[in-house]
Amino acid sequence: MSEKRDYYEVLGVDRNANAEELKTKYRKIAMKHHPDRNPGDKEAEEKFKEAAEAYEVLCNPEKRQMYDQFGHRAFENGGAGQQGGFRDFEDIFSSFGDIFEDFFGFRTGTRGGRTRAQRGADLRYDLTIEFTDAAFGKETELELEKMETCDECRGTGAKPGTAPETCDQCRGTGQFVRTQGFFQVKSVCPKCRGQGKVIKEPCPKCMGRQQVAAKKKVDLKIPAGVDTGSRLRLAGEGEPGVNGGPAGDLYVFLRVKQHDVFERRDNDIVCKVELSFIQASLGDEITVPTLTGEETVKIPQGTQYGDIIKLTNQGIPSLRTGLPGDELVEVVLKTPKNMSKRQEELLREFEKLESEKITSRIKRIFTKSGTSSSKAAK
Ligand SMILES: [Zn+2]
Ligand SMILES: [Zn+2]
Repeated sequence: MSEKRDYYEVLGVDRNANAEELKTKYRKIAMKHHPDRNPGDKEAEEKFKEAAEAYEVLCNPEKRQMYDQFGHRAFENGGAGQQGGFRDFEDIFSSFGDIFEDFFGFRTGTRGGRTRAQRGADLRYDLTIEFTDAAFGKETELELEKMETCDECRGTGAKPGTAPETCDQCRGTGQFVRTQGFFQVKSVCPKCRGQGKVIKEPCPKCMGRQQVAAKKKVDLKIPAGVDTGSRLRLAGEGEPGVNGGPAGDLYVFLRVKQHDVFERRDNDIVCKVELSFIQASLGDEITVPTLTGEETVKIPQGTQYGDIIKLTNQGIPSLRTGLPGDELVEVVLKTPKNMSKRQEELLREFEKLESEKITSRIKRIFTKSGTSSSKAAK
């Protein structure tokens, strides 16, 4: 499989192209490589599909945002052997029927306008995951209730052994034509509601609705590095299509739980450690938590409040590049409380030495400046 081209490049637009530009460019490309104009031309066919796939993503604000965020990886989860969600031409035509209708003045690919294939609805699933699952990724299973194509009638809506019959009122066209003066007025056939077919004996399981509600388990691979607000797309796991149309997609919206110890800043993780002012002054070796366990860290002499000790590559991997962030250990200082008499004495002595140090420094400066000014006075 060759490397996938960037969707913006495929359509020849820049990254902030608006919906109108996208549509115009896509129409141009689709017109050029349309299978009706290039029968049997494999390359044109590939180009036509490639453009449809790019347009399908970029014309949908949600998918476009995901693509901008994750690139092609945004849609890898779908599996089921489909790239970008289109199975064949029929699929493309049924998704963008309106656009092709504009080109040719009729709907291509829907075979005469009746029993129009319709894409199933997209579904949303909200999932809360643990902080560490976001950091390392996880494979999990979702259980959802959604409509499925009825297995009893295999989606025809007719009782097994029978088949939908051609509507006698519209003779299968799905349209009802009335003559009004000089005009012919077309409307949707009331008997078959535009389907062109009527079901004499409905399927007992779906009552002719072609679909039934069912519980379904779906495998989900959460990539390492996701964060609250990340969305994963599972192609074809939405509601099933109608009349042979493709299924919609399932979007999983992620929320990442907070961690007891770590706070996330992009791909870095931050944790605070408390040190006594003695430890910070003299230096020490301490154990800090990491995402995988713990690590010993050297505290240098003279560490200050707010200083940050960096543990390189101990953060969360970037969703885009896979490169890990860092762990930042932020120092918080504790001052001693309820000191004993002796401790207090020692601190007072310490303070005395500190102020002597300062006094002698000031004296030195004073003497220096004193001599220089006396020199200048001469
Ligand atoms: Zn009819
Ligand atoms: Zn059924």
